[in-house]
Amino acid sequence: MDKEQIWQAVLGEIEIGLSRVNFITWFKDTFISSFENNKVVIGVPSEFVKKWLENKFYKIIKASLEKITGEKINEIYYQVEFRKTEPNKNISASKEIKIEKEEVVRPVEAPTINRFGLNAKYLFDNFIVGKANELAHAACRAVINNPGKVYNPLFIYGGVGLGKTHLLQAVGNELSRFTNKILYTTSENFTNNYVQAVKTGQGKDFKSLYRNVDLLLVDDVQFMGGKDGTQEEFFHTFNELHQGNKQIVMTSDRPPKSIPAIENRLISRFESGMVVDVGKPDIETKMAILEKKAVERGYLFDREILVYVANNIQNNIRELEGALNKIVAYHEFNNAAPSVKSVKEILSDLTLESRSKSISPKDIIDIVAKFYNLSSKEIVSNSRKKELVTPRQIAIYLIREELNTSYPTIGNELGGRDHTTAMHAYNKIAEEKQENERLNQELNSIKQLFYSSIY
Ligand code: ADP
Ligand code: MG
Repeated sequence: MDKEQIWQAVLGEIEIGLSRVNFITWFKDTFISSFENNKVVIGVPSEFVKKWLENKFYKIIKASLEKITGEKINEIYYQVEFRKTEPNKNISASKEIKIEKEEVVRPVEAPTINRFGLNAKYLFDNFIVGKANELAHAACRAVINNPGKVYNPLFIYGGVGLGKTHLLQAVGNELSRFTNKILYTTSENFTNNYVQAVKTGQGKDFKSLYRNVDLLLVDDVQFMGGKDGTQEEFFHTFNELHQGNKQIVMTSDRPPKSIPAIENRLISRFESGMVVDVGKPDIETKMAILEKKAVERGYLFDREILVYVANNIQNNIRELEGALNKIVAYHEFNNAAPSVKSVKEILSDLTLESRSKSISPKDIIDIVAKFYNLSSKEIVSNSRKKELVTPRQIAIYLIREELNTSYPTIGNELGGRDHTTAMHAYNKIAEEKQENERLNQELNSIKQLFYSSIY
């Protein structure tokens, strides 16, 4: 048996004795990092999990390891480590949602996707309106009252985890009471389906599928950037629906003009209806969201706890939900009521300071690459192509700005460049940022991406 197989078998053993929630909370993203001379090092995703495994699960892990390997285990160490490969097969997403009925706490809600591709949990009823999203919310409401007539298309943009998909799907769920010609898709899905249809000679079916709806919802249109065939097809789909007064709603992580490598004719279509943004929620909104979601899970938090969490979770609502999941799982496990003290401890590895430490220069390069639809290899390559140079400089700028990494180290990370090159790139972006609003916006979107990706 290799390390992976041993660990899968151990997890299988451990899982039997634990509730699903506990199992997922403590064993997700764990793996055997090394196994030599009866000494095992187990990789864990956070200090928090490490502490728990050491204190609460030492015996059972040791016993299972010995049982599975038939060897005596002398030492077990835990180490915070991220494994970029496949997650534990036993704890994959599809299994995670199969939570037993008797369990009250559900860290991951079972999504019920209906025939339009919509998740039934995204409703207006459970969407909390605050300053940062009230315009977007009002625009969606207007669309519902008058589909195809008022804001067509409606284009909603904003950072990760701020409720764009929720709003988009809420429009679909609401209108599904009146029509069954609704289609929800992500732009990636649209692209894949299109490519597939062309390949298999089913282009006609594809066209008729997308062009015969009353409501077309397209999530994350920014991913159409750079995909010419898809853009062409989408342009025609768009025109046909629009001319027939069929409603189109789209989301993106940035405004139409800032989507890289997108045709001008699409930008002008996207801007021709209503463009609204969703921003980061203020403290009051975060508290209201948290309170509502906690109540749904059977918890009533003191105001002090709400204030603490809302103040410390800075970036988005998805993180807020993640924090809540942790809090609930922990107190369920311990059978204790949450206090500010316990909540502080639980969230210690989520707070901003400790998080920025866990991002590496490589993570930043990966994320910048992803943002510009490039590969990390291209970013660190020697090529002087214009479409690579700026993203490369942005990666350098962000590594310096966020991690305070030295210029020689940055140069090294960026494919062995000289430290003066790194310094020059940093200064260039820092300067340009002063005048270039679009660049500023891109930098912000990228930052949001890496803060949300760590969690
Ligand atoms: P985005 O598409 O902008 O990345 P999502 O719509 O997926 O973000 O939102 C992330 C999570 O936060 C979802 O579970 C969503 O239900 C929740 N959420 C976002 N905004 C709100 C809100 N205003 N009220 C309640 N829940 C929200
Ligand atoms: Mg989304």
